[in-house]
Amino acid sequence: EKAELERFRGQPTKTADGIEKIIGANIGNPDDAVAAMEHDAEAIGLFRTEFLFMDAKQLPSEDEQFEAYKKAAVTAKGASVIIRTLDVGGDKEIAYLHMKKEDNPFMGYRAVRYCLGNPDQYKVQLRALLRASAFGKIMIMIPLVTAVEEVRAVKALVEECKAELRDKNIEFNEDIKVGVMMETPSASLIADRLACEADFFSIGTNDLIGYTMCADRGNDRVGYLYSVYYPSVLRSIKNIIECGVRAGIMVGMCGEAAADPLLEPLLISFGLEEFSMSAPSVLRARKTISLWTKKEADELAERALACSTIEEVKAILTEAAR
Ligand code: PEP
Ligand code: MG
Repeated sequence: EKAELERFRGQPTKTADGIEKIIGANIGNPDDAVAAMEHDAEAIGLFRTEFLFMDAKQLPSEDEQFEAYKKAAVTAKGASVIIRTLDVGGDKEIAYLHMKKEDNPFMGYRAVRYCLGNPDQYKVQLRALLRASAFGKIMIMIPLVTAVEEVRAVKALVEECKAELRDKNIEFNEDIKVGVMMETPSASLIADRLACEADFFSIGTNDLIGYTMCADRGNDRVGYLYSVYYPSVLRSIKNIIECGVRAGIMVGMCGEAAADPLLEPLLISFGLEEFSMSAPSVLRARKTISLWTKKEADELAERALACSTIEEVKAILTEAAR
């Protein structure tokens, strides 16, 4: 099996009928980018920057962040590197930020909400990202978006940071892309509107499943509800991809589901462009994608979307698996 997968090393990612796809890797620090390239990833589809913050004793400085983002960008050698701004809160705690305890942290002051509430701190990260964008294809991604206003507010801060850098004659990519992480039911329901504001989408199925099904993956008693195969979750994913494709923006997926061979044909059918996953899964995913034509994937998707229950969906996808 391993030798069989090696055939796909260095090859472009394509469906059986030649539609080009990109397989990215998810990373938590710039050193992971080296491993990602060794595993033959074609891009970095998600750089979770919170680890940079969690591994430190105080807020990493603009220069420290710049070095980390630059290293990831340089390591990717011109391939795109989607860097997600600080996704703090929920289950991710950073002691030195002294965030107030909340009764319901997953519904609380986290991610882009926290960042927009602390704009001076957020701008340190945005300036570091802009400066690093002079050294590779960095794209900025906003986590936990629920409303158009949040995207506009972040873009306004990015513009402020650009103006500051211009004043100081510091180089950056004027055309840096700012995208939205699609991981809430609200974002999914307004995907058509968000697609007008965002340069790209990336679907975060880990949170999207939890928020859509109102189920905490870590809670045994409701764990059975935490699945990408529920019809509601499949419809949500389909809507996000179709809205992005219709608006002509890149749509990727960086949640665990992107590496699910049962789901991948559906993602091909919906029109997903970038599949981002943990690095060791790259070659396996390239192989799975190579086994499906768009037409076959469409036929399977039509049958899967016609199901009412998770059991029917799973049965159809399992039987069709290649
Ligand atoms: C997700 O929610 O799917 C995701 C990729 O982000 P994280 O797992 O870091 O919340
Ligand atoms: Mg998430």
